[in-house]
Amino acid sequence: MTMTRMTPLLERNEQFARNYTPVPLGLPATQTLILTCLDHRVDPAIVLGLQLGDAPVIRNAGGRVTEAVIGDIAYLAFLAEQLFAGQGAPDKLFEVAVIHHTQCGTGFLADDNFRHQAAAATGLDEAALGASAVADPHVTVKADVERLLSSPLLSPKVSVSGHVYDIDTGRVTTVLDARYPQ
Ligand SMILES: [Zn+2]
Repeated sequence: MTMTRMTPLLERNEQFARNYTPVPLGLPATQTLILTCLDHRVDPAIVLGLQLGDAPVIRNAGGRVTEAVIGDIAYLAFLAEQLFAGQGAPDKLFEVAVIHHTQCGTGFLADDNFRHQAAAATGLDEAALGASAVADPHVTVKADVERLLSSPLLSPKVSVSGHVYDIDTGRVTTVLDARYPQ
């Protein structure tokens, strides 16, 4: 076995596995699904104290509601209904908590010149890059909650809430309380 950058992390995993108890497949214990940024300063397991089995987590650049995210949430709602009908309230599956954060690296994409350079260097679509920018998390989290709530793919048994994580204080503030689609 050669040393790689994963080697120290695999040693941590060895420690983890020594006291490990598997969690059976079931509804998430907190009845929430977290959507947040992939930023390594915003790990929801640490910020929200999540344990194994507590909550599914979807992460992408900015924690944005994209077509792919909507598809994942639609599938998870279908899965929960198929496998676990009868557990919990029949008219409720889970709450999607959208969490955007301050100092997001996608914020640079709000700058025209930076976004143009990023598109040229990566081959990614410039408009799509612009749409992913979180310059003000209070604004983008509201837009994404509305986008998810208005999607025809969202189960009427899934509610959506919006929150902002402040990198400076470590505090998560609720911007929009949980709501079901109309
Ligand atoms: Zn971010």
